Amino acid sequence: MNRKALEMLAGGRYLEERSASQRGERDLELEVQVRKMLQLIGENPEREGLVDTPRRVSSALHYLTSGYELTVEDAVSDALFEESCEEMVIVKDVEFYSLCEHHILPFFGRAHIGYLPKGRVIGLSKIARVVDIFARRLQVQERLTNQIASGLLEVLNAHGVAVVLEASHFCMVMRGVQKQNSKTVTSSMLGAFRDDSRSRSEFMELIRQP
Ligand SMILES: [Zn+2]
Repeated sequence: MNRKALEMLAGGRYLEERSASQRGERDLELEVQVRKMLQLIGENPEREGLVDTPRRVSSALHYLTSGYELTVEDAVSDALFEESCEEMVIVKDVEFYSLCEHHILPFFGRAHIGYLPKGRVIGLSKIARVVDIFARRLQVQERLTNQIASGLLEVLNAHGVAVVLEASHFCMVMRGVQKQNSKTVTSSMLGAFRDDSRSRSEFMELIRQP
């Protein structure tokens, strides 16, 4: 579909915030589809409250899936430091927000991350950044956990990396099942955390402390 047609289908609202050239063809196409979706669920995309919804949804989805365009190396390369420290480093309660790939509904919670350095440490804020890179994609919690762990292991070249994620899934709490307080816990243990039960227990013990 050509650009002109897309702009017309998107309701001519494409010029309001960003100019058409600032927004890609992909965003416009997405607006068209969101408009269509509104019609299919029995809504009127022309009514006042919904007129700008396709543009908003398109731009929200763009942001919430921006992790596809990013790599861990790019995000952390300027924040890796040579350091002789070999003690376990733990960052607890890193908030994350992701989208489940089965329902495109949010799941969100906290990530706890530990690593055993091998001559190299990472700026602590960058750990949260790595979590975001993988959270801002369509995900299942198990894969998200593994990707954070292996992404960090690769850039840190650490003795081991441990990641535990606790999350609530909107597809569980909002739909039929309605288990408002249920939490899903996943973990990924790599290197020394997989091979050495003492490192693993020490990590689990430390993240449990309030
Ligand atoms: Zn789901």
